[in-house]
Amino acid sequence: MTGEVLLSAHGLTKAYAGADGELPVLGGIDLEVRAGEVVALLGRSGSGKSTLLRCLAGLVPASSGTVAYRGEPLTGANPGTAMVFQTFALLPWLTVRQNVELGLEAKGIGRKERARAALQAIDLIGLDGFENAYPKELSGGMRQRVGFARALVVEPDVLMMDEPFSALDVLTAENLRGELMELWESGHFPTRAVVLVTHHIEEAVLMADRVVVLGARPYGTIRSTFAVDLPRPRDRRSAGFLDLVD
Ligand code: ADP
Ligand code: MG
Repeated sequence: MTGEVLLSAHGLTKAYAGADGELPVLGGIDLEVRAGEVVALLGRSGSGKSTLLRCLAGLVPASSGTVAYRGEPLTGANPGTAMVFQTFALLPWLTVRQNVELGLEAKGIGRKERARAALQAIDLIGLDGFENAYPKELSGGMRQRVGFARALVVEPDVLMMDEPFSALDVLTAENLRGELMELWESGHFPTRAVVLVTHHIEEAVLMADRVVVLGARPYGTIRSTFAVDLPRPRDRRSAGFLDLVD
């Protein structure tokens, strides 16, 4: 891999404060994410995948070590990332378009440009005609499309996804996964790298160029890393997830 280093963690540790003292979760992570790659963080439940993703996104502070975006240590939310959550995290009182506009609002982008960008993202993600619907009127798959549009509309350098398909049924998940890989390859969004948290090895191998396996004992460390020696996602799409598990 020769792309620019977009995200880096060096000696990253994380412990949460609990009733019985500190709960150590990450025990010294060294990781780089470069432009052009899709990295999967794979591990069992509780191995610290979400915690690592949130530390890389600057949503929770590291206990020690450094996390940087393009060489600049983070002081808060990572300005180069946007997140897609497992359970969508949509605001139920806002329409699809208003949910998608949230990230743009936070960046101080004006109303007219927000509406234009949001409608374009909604169209690209396959929700044309649903811009004025409320989340409760949508299926799970459609809600997660809103989650993707909300993240992609801010054109993050690195798209962060925390088990984005695991709340969806297997067919819906496979469709969305395939469409996303197409979008990612089409260049419609300038996102340069993807970090995908998953506990499905099939999903990791299908989507990622590199798989980082986290182990939980005694606390989260990188147990192994392997490159996926398969064609780029565009060519992998034809061999769907269901073909692999058949
Ligand atoms: P994974 O995503 O791999 O399932 P997590 O990063 O969510 O792992 O959690 C790792 C460990 O940290 C678990 O033991 C979990 O209970 C604990 N944990 C996660 N978030 C918090 C939090 N906000 N406060 C305290 N403990 C937490
Ligand atoms: Mg998790």
